[in-house]
Amino acid sequence: MTSLRSVHLDPQTGCALVLDRGQTLRVRSPTGQQVADVVAFAARSARSAGDAPGTGPRADPDEWFSSGRTIDYGMSIYVTTGSVLYSNRSTPMLTITADTAGRHDLLVSPCSEEMFERLYGVAGHPSCLSNLAEHLGPFGVPAGRIPTTLNLFMVVTPDPVTGRITIEAPSSRPGDHVDLRAEVDLVVGVAACSAEITNRGTLEPIEVEVHDDR
Ligand SMILES: [Zn+2]
Repeated sequence: MTSLRSVHLDPQTGCALVLDRGQTLRVRSPTGQQVADVVAFAARSARSAGDAPGTGPRADPDEWFSSGRTIDYGMSIYVTTGSVLYSNRSTPMLTITADTAGRHDLLVSPCSEEMFERLYGVAGHPSCLSNLAEHLGPFGVPAGRIPTTLNLFMVVTPDPVTGRITIEAPSSRPGDHVDLRAEVDLVVGVAACSAEITNRGTLEPIEVEVHDDR
């Protein structure tokens, strides 16, 4: 396995990177008990209309990871090894090829400044949405186009009768990781979740690696 790139995400930070078809994104929780928000957009070539000559890969803000379609096609609100993550255009974007934690969330949107204000009365709190927007912006993704994320290691349990959700401690133990193989060329964003309540009161780093197993 060849590691092409690795990024250490300090607590409450994010990154964006290009993932070519066939490459694998590994998201690792080195200390455990930490959620990582992941989002993906289809990459378009630099020769797409409107791009300046010589510009690098850009994301197509019109084709994005869709938690709704992933739930629909997988017939489950959970994903694990073997699950396929679909785009809003029903394109398979990523396949989970390894998962040492086993529990993740597809239901809730990335935490945002507005969420911290509405739910907790805290202004100006760091958030996954702002971290993803900061790093996806240079690839051509406006903040308002960032959809519901795949929330790795996040444990959200719905009540089967009322539908009310409970957020529990993250599923990750130290060193747990998830591998996601790109089925098409992608621009992906990853954030070490900024929400104390989602992470049992602690905020930990996340490791992101790109592997090429081909
Ligand atoms: Zn978050």
